[in-house]
Amino acid sequence: MTKLSNPQETIRVIKKHDFSFQKKFGQNFLIDEHVLERIIDESEITEDDFVLEIGPGIGTLTQYLCEAAREVVTVEIDKNLIPILEETLEKYDNVTVINEDILKVDIAALSEEKNGGKPIKVVANLPYYITTPIIMALFESRVPLESITIMVQKEVAERMQALPGKKDYGALSLAVQYYADARIVANVPPNCFMPRPKVGSAVIRLKKHSEAAVDVNDEKLMFRIIRDSFNQRRKTLVNGLYNASNIGLSKEEIAECINILGEKETVRGEALSLEQFAMLSNIIGEKIKK
Ligand code: SAM
Repeated sequence: MTKLSNPQETIRVIKKHDFSFQKKFGQNFLIDEHVLERIIDESEITEDDFVLEIGPGIGTLTQYLCEAAREVVTVEIDKNLIPILEETLEKYDNVTVINEDILKVDIAALSEEKNGGKPIKVVANLPYYITTPIIMALFESRVPLESITIMVQKEVAERMQALPGKKDYGALSLAVQYYADARIVANVPPNCFMPRPKVGSAVIRLKKHSEAAVDVNDEKLMFRIIRDSFNQRRKTLVNGLYNASNIGLSKEEIAECINILGEKETVRGEALSLEQFAMLSNIIGEKIKK
């Protein structure tokens, strides 16, 4: 069987099924075998692994996953792709296709059923319009995760990996780095996809921390502080947090908390590390209680 990584085979399958690409679902299918092999290598899948794929398209990456893993579940929103997947994945008996929106799937229950609750690997060439909600849903739902290896828009990958002081650094960097170690493993140009996306892409590997990265008393409060700090990027941290005004402290009290942290009142949120945001939220949490 010719693999779909061969562009001629992708064209043949698409024509045969009279498939039309849906922009609203972010459909850009991979047609480069080197990129596909790289994704498999970097995700370190073994024959013992259960893998969750998000958005199989016509099954290009899925074919590689089925060959590398023990079992694959792949979730595709577009019902028009289901008959195509039946055909392109016909020869594999270790794959289940679910026709559903990934944001509506109970992944924790799925991993319990398929992997006995042990940490799973997620691999995907993600639809770019919902990259962040998908990643945050995976982390926040407390699904047992080992790693997430995903193709995303290059700019988004850079934001996930960015450190304090860099222009890409923001709420997404902190959220991702709170849960995982983020590393861009490949840059992928538009000509590796059909149709070609307008933006560059990158494969990023998020390896879940085995222990909490920072010591934080109230995660929700920390993420609220992070969001408020970056919502008003050009403001100082004191003003950003005070203007967001849902923390319930006066400007002077917020300034005091920032001083306890060992920073000046003029500091901006973008200069603080994850550890500092954790410490600040612990300090603010104590102050709110008083
Ligand atoms: N994995 C294929 C490949 O690499 O060639 C296709 C990747 S394409 C960038 C993204 C896929 O995600 C499309 O097949 C699209 O229909 C699917 N998709 C979009 N939104 C989705 C959602 N909410 N849940 C599940 N699949 C989704």
